[in-house]
Parts: sequence; structure tokens; C-alpha cells
Amino acid sequence: MKTKQLLNFDIRSFDKIKTIIREISSTYVNYKQLNTYELSELYSPFIEKSIVQYIKSHLYRKKVYIINSNINITIYSCEQLSYEFELCVLLHIVSTILLTLHVFGKSTEHTELNIVYIDIDQPKYLNKIVHTENDIESGCIGRNINSGSTVVSTGNIKIWRRSELVRTLIHELIHSLCLDLKNTNIVECFTAHVTKVNGTINRFLYGFNFNEVYTEFITLHIYAIWRAYMDNTSVQHQFNQLIKSSVHQMNVLLNHLNKYNVKCSLHNSNIMSYIYLKTIIAKSKKMRNIMYKLIDVNGNNSIDDLICQLIDWIEPIVNNTFEHIFTNDKTFDYTSFMFYD
Ligand SMILES: [Zn+2]
Repeated sequence: MKTKQLLNFDIRSFDKIKTIIREISSTYVNYKQLNTYELSELYSPFIEKSIVQYIKSHLYRKKVYIINSNINITIYSCEQLSYEFELCVLLHIVSTILLTLHVFGKSTEHTELNIVYIDIDQPKYLNKIVHTENDIESGCIGRNINSGSTVVSTGNIKIWRRSELVRTLIHELIHSLCLDLKNTNIVECFTAHVTKVNGTINRFLYGFNFNEVYTEFITLHIYAIWRAYMDNTSVQHQFNQLIKSSVHQMNVLLNHLNKYNVKCSLHNSNIMSYIYLKTIIAKSKKMRNIMYKLIDVNGNNSIDDLICQLIDWIEPIVNNTFEHIFTNDKTFDYTSFMFYD
């Protein structure tokens, strides 16, 4: 599917979920106590220490679902989940997989997936920033902010935050199914242009991981479709709501950095790519269109020109603005997007 068609996706055409859910009900189920080996399997370098500690002391049960014989979903939980809740989690995971595959024109039959979902509900918070001699941001934000990870070599996905299940799963699926920009020359081209300014590295933009910006940008669209499907509302409405929440997240983050006198562009975490660059691109219609063109472009000739347009627009914003660049919509309910200091 061409990316510019994403927001016009007809959600009524997506009706496979019920069939798949019927298949799931007859799959193999296994309950048992977690042992040391299983615990070690759950860890990821992206899980923050306190969450690992929480998992260690709380988690004790797992259930394995096999879908279409090539998609495994393992749900770890802290207690015996009610049938309704488990079904709900499953519905969220399966519908997200189906929708993401569908958008990219892939079939479930030819896709192998191994998804581990750890059902914990730990809040996100922003850590105190410690300035050190060589590292301006050691001990800084980022660790607690991730909600999932993908082991690129195996494609295995882990998600460990209930509130972010769907959004994170879409993001990780894009990585896992190699639908991101990793192997294209778009990322290369972006990096080359960033380093080319007057022959020196533009360090303000250099810290941004363009593949992560892309992955989050597409995630925003697929998540809007998913929410529209579930809420029976329009994709465009959901997209607008997601942009509002992104703006809010960005403002919270910038506030936090300002408090510790850290410039956002000097923060070398992908967080800035996940939130900041994604938001400023997604919020501008013009930039969105450039991004769509960039992603849908077949030949290499126009990539260079599109990247230049993108950078020309982003650069002054990133270089000069370290305060709030957008105002929050006061009528919007942000409770599920709060950070904790
Ligand atoms: Zn990522």
C-alpha cells in the first residue's frame, strides 16, 4: 500500500479478526511456574532495572498461544488473568498483527512471529539528569521509557508495558518484519546530508536516528487505523488525536530537559527520534507529504531532493527552538501519556 493512502484506509475491509480469534480458542495452553531459565529469556537490554526487578518478584505464569502454526504469542502475567482480560489482550495482539501485515501486503501464512507479552503495568517516568565530564546525560531518561524490543537476528518481539501494547507492537513488527528503512539508502542519504553541511557534521540533526523516525511515523498511521477500527471512528480523527498526544509528550520531555539545562538535540537517545522529530514531521502537512513521497519513491533520483527539503525545514526548528514549539490542547485527555518525574 502506498503510504499516502494510509489515512484513507477503509477499515470496513478489514474483517479477518473474528475468524482468527475462533482459531485461537482451540490452541495449546500451558500454565507453569517461571524458572530461572525462563526469567533469563524474558530479559532485554532495553528493560529498565526496576522493571526487571518487578518481573523477578511478581511474574509467575505463562500461557502460549499458537496461531496459524507459525505465529506464537506467549503471555506472561503476575496473576491468573480472567478469561475476558486474556481474550482482550489476545484480540489486541492479533488484530495489531493482522492489520500491520495487511497494510504491508503480507500474509499470516508466510510470516513467522514469536511475540512475548509481559503483562505488567509500570508507569513511565523521567529520571534525574546527571551531568558528568564526558557524558552530559548519563543517568538520563530513556531506560524506563522503552516498552518493547526486537531481537533483529531472530525477529523475536518482547513487549512489557500494558498501556503501550498496541503502539509498541506495531513499531516492533515493522522492525521484525524488516519493513523499516534499515536496508534502504534513504537513511544513508539522510546521514550524508546531515554530515555535509559546510563539510562538518550537523550535530543537532546527527543524533536523530532516521530509521526510528520513519518507524514511529508509520506506527502513528497504523495505530490510528487500529484505533478507528476498534472505536468505530474515522482514521483521520484518531490520527489528529495521536498528534495531540505526541505534542504533549514532546512538551513534557522538553520541559524536563530544560529543567536540567540539556538541549534536546544533544540528547543522544532515540527518544528524541521517537518523539521529537516524528512529531514535528507528522504535525506539518507539508512535511508529511514529503515523508510519504520519500517512502513511496521507487527510483533513487528524487530521494536526494526530498531529503534536502526535509532537512531544510527541520533544521531551523531543531537548531533554534528548545522551548515548546507547539501549544497543548487543554481539552485533550492526556492521562495515559503522562511521564513521571
Ligand atoms: Zn525502534
